[in-house]
Amino acid sequence: MTLGHDFFAKGHFHSPETHEEMVVLFKRSVSNVVVEISSFCNRKCSYCPVSQVERSRENRLLPDQIFDRVVTDLASIDYERSVCLNLYNEPTSDRELLLKRVSVLRQEVPKCRIYFSTNGDYLNRDYLHELVDAGLSELYVTLHAPRGASYSDAYVVGRFSEFAARMGKQIKVDTVLPQQSVQGTMNLFGIKLHVFATNYDLYGSDRAGAIQNLSAKAPKRMAPCDRPFNDFTISYDGTVFPCCQMFADNDLHRQRYAIGNMADYSSMFEAYASRDMAGWRRTLLRFGPKASPCDTCSEANHEGSAEERRVRDVIYQNLIGQPPEDEVVRVEPGRVSGAPKRRLLPRFQIFRQ
Ligand code: SF4
Ligand code: SF4
Repeated sequence: MTLGHDFFAKGHFHSPETHEEMVVLFKRSVSNVVVEISSFCNRKCSYCPVSQVERSRENRLLPDQIFDRVVTDLASIDYERSVCLNLYNEPTSDRELLLKRVSVLRQEVPKCRIYFSTNGDYLNRDYLHELVDAGLSELYVTLHAPRGASYSDAYVVGRFSEFAARMGKQIKVDTVLPQQSVQGTMNLFGIKLHVFATNYDLYGSDRAGAIQNLSAKAPKRMAPCDRPFNDFTISYDGTVFPCCQMFADNDLHRQRYAIGNMADYSSMFEAYASRDMAGWRRTLLRFGPKASPCDTCSEANHEGSAEERRVRDVIYQNLIGQPPEDEVVRVEPGRVSGAPKRRLLPRFQIFRQ
């Protein structure tokens, strides 16, 4: 689903000057705050940038001051939308930290929806119960194949059975696409768990160019992207990125795509309203060629109807100026691929792996 005509404001493209304007812009726009509370992951999935670095030896934590800043800022606007507590980490690996983060958020930002994605490896019934008691709203469980192994239906059936047995509750399977994906849900302790396995060799994103075999399969992206409008993403070291495709342990991502560190901003509102973020949003508002890393990104890629294209052009004209004629607008060197169109999975494509 793309953003409606009335979502967009001048402040998205021209940084507001006053704190009050920044707060208003953030509050009307951001529906998903992504906070990587720690760095550790026990897996190294081939389609994930974690496979390119070492994240399984130590657990580096998002500094308390930055997490506190997030909580204070969200509390100050009585934030009612989503907060996600993972990015490229496995949040359940540090039970004490996760419970503390969920509990503080629930206490200080009582109306927000708290969720995260997990590989499920550390989860059991008691742990889930504690998380729900602490204030968790919803959970996404991705059952990954072992490192180096390809997606297989037989493996997925085994993982679904094992996970259901471990949680003591059946999974209601609602979608089975052979060699592609299995999706189901489980209701437990009053919240919904979305349980799924996906063949990311078919459906994975190239993670801002980091996973090159997925870039090679990607079509040339022409679609707009709404992530820098409605997401706000903070990595475990405080790096703020325009979207969740970017990875703090990738030097190129940090040097070229980061919009700074939360420690350097007085608030999330200021970071969201920054000139850099406005620049990303200008380049991603319309249909048209994109530069790296968006040119190979399959995240919510779509062709769009003639009406959608027209509406985006009108918004551009009204809030920014004359739309450029089909030119690549970011300065980074673009890569263009003429490879066949990749597939999009209807339901879970918006969630992180
Ligand atoms: S996809 Fe998830 S489980 Fe796999 S390596 Fe990346 S963060 Fe870890
Ligand atoms: S197109 Fe992809 S890489 Fe670019 S901002 Fe959107 S999600 Fe991020």
